[in-house]
Amino acid sequence: MRLAVFGAEGKVGRALVPVLERAGHEVRGIEIGDEPDVRGLDAAVDFTTPEAAPENVRAALDQGVSCIVGTTGWDAQALGEHARERGLRLFVAPNFSLGAVLMMRFAEQAAQYFPRAEVIELHGEAKKDAPSGTARMTAELIGGDTIIHSVRLPGLVAHQEVIFGGEGQLLTIRHDTTARESFADGVLLALEKLPELSPGLTVGLETLL
Ligand code: NAP
Repeated sequence: MRLAVFGAEGKVGRALVPVLERAGHEVRGIEIGDEPDVRGLDAAVDFTTPEAAPENVRAALDQGVSCIVGTTGWDAQALGEHARERGLRLFVAPNFSLGAVLMMRFAEQAAQYFPRAEVIELHGEAKKDAPSGTARMTAELIGGDTIIHSVRLPGLVAHQEVIFGGEGQLLTIRHDTTARESFADGVLLALEKLPELSPGLTVGLETLL
């Protein structure tokens, strides 16, 4: 496919673009200050900032291009409607790593058997939003008043623990992202499934599994 990647020079972008190219996609990297010209491309991928992503997505949709977005910390509802009106797809996932999606699924299952759970999410200090989109989605799946703790420190990439507490026992489900290449498999899967999605907003990699 012919793709635009918004944020191709970012930490995720730099890991993602070579994997997309190795998979046979042609990539146009678009950075801050570049004209968001995506007309005629098959899809646009965005890993930028919560401020930039809505503008990039709107520009792509207005040019007739469906979008896959990994940027967290923004609300995609209104642009999902914008996509639907145009017969286009907006796929947003707070986590494109398959292991993290499985962690959320297992946490949802465990929640049926434990009265309380708390989530600890740990990310590098440069991550702008807190709590992470993955942590918020995990808490939603667990339900109740699940508390989220956010840690931002140098040396971390993306990690999450879900700790379930019961009478006389604890269950911990943990996922560690050690390299940003982990997000590429999810993006490749989303690109493959994009044409099969209904127009409008689809949220979460788990909907594609
Ligand atoms: P990053 O290193 O800060 O990269 C963001 C990149 O976007 C930078 O190159 C930045 O350029 C660029 N940018 C900013 N505004 C732009 C614009 N208007 N148009 C095009 N490019 C623009 O951050 P990151 O670690 O790669 O993460 C990016 C986003 O993805 C964050 O929201 C993060 O939370 C999210 N994320 C999601 C997942 C997932 O699986 N869903 C995984 C990891 C990260 P400058 O440096 O010049 O400002």
